[in-house]
Amino acid sequence: MVSYKELGLVNTREMFKKAVAGGYAIPAFNFNNMEQLQAIIQASAETKSPVILQVSKGARNYANQTLLRYMAEGAVEYAKELGWEHPQIVLHLDHGDSFELCKSCVDMGFSSVMIDASALPYEENIALTKKVVDYAHQYDVTVEAELGVLAGVEDEVSAEESHYTRPEEVIDFATRTGCDSLAISIGTSHGAYKFKPEQCTRDPKTGRLVPPPLAFDVLHEVEKKLPGFPIVLHGSSSVPQEYVDIINAHGGKLPDAVGIPEEQLREAAKSAVCKINIDSDSRLAMTAAVRKVFDEKPGEFDPRKYLGPARDEMKKLYMHKIINVLGSDGKAE
Ligand SMILES: [Zn+2]
Repeated sequence: MVSYKELGLVNTREMFKKAVAGGYAIPAFNFNNMEQLQAIIQASAETKSPVILQVSKGARNYANQTLLRYMAEGAVEYAKELGWEHPQIVLHLDHGDSFELCKSCVDMGFSSVMIDASALPYEENIALTKKVVDYAHQYDVTVEAELGVLAGVEDEVSAEESHYTRPEEVIDFATRTGCDSLAISIGTSHGAYKFKPEQCTRDPKTGRLVPPPLAFDVLHEVEKKLPGFPIVLHGSSSVPQEYVDIINAHGGKLPDAVGIPEEQLREAAKSAVCKINIDSDSRLAMTAAVRKVFDEKPGEFDPRKYLGPARDEMKKLYMHKIINVLGSDGKAE
């Protein structure tokens, strides 16, 4: 048993309280490798933004959970080295799908876990979530739960159809489970293909897809039922068209990839939404940078010469999200 406190990490409780009161959101960036982690920490340290490092089940399988935990511990030290005196860093399990997985993360030094039982019938979702909460809270680890189903595919999470969170359920759910934050479904979606072309309209000038707007009425209803309760948005990448264009111009093939417009995320961040998950955008930034090097310098075979530019591009993206979309810069001085 390793406590996250020994690793210098924090849970989400204070962070979320301040974010809800201050009308901004904490970035939750997924990571699978060193370059992503370096870019996240550099961007957070430079902007003094609290940050949530997210590890999915897929990332654990890819990178090894022991290694990821030591990387997070190293991230705290690295942040200090970069001049961030009191780093506010959370290590969070994204989409835990069983009690055993969540328990193992709590035992391994995670400071926060998500139990996603949203695909189960309502009463089963409550029972499993409560079981995780009861265990995690013994160690002061915070728990995110989910109500409603997001569409899209990312790692091992996938659903064909989404259905919005039912606001009439949230009080009962939050009270009976004791969860610390709640992921809701208001039309965001996982992956780089968040919407089918038939769900979108097309901008006549650019020919690009314009996605349907988020269901802010559902969000406001939830806020009314649970005033001040931390709300989480998954599937909130914006799929920047400049990255899609670079990828497509250098041999890639991502037709009609589309995400959530940043204005809508900015709007959501001002409300009770206090955690916004971003994964696909960093994948796109990384892929765009790597493809460009491979295309322009076919003789290059030093990984530092393509993973280095990829890291720089991701850092730029993370800083943009922190400063211009979530508003979390300067909130962890
Ligand atoms: Zn998610």
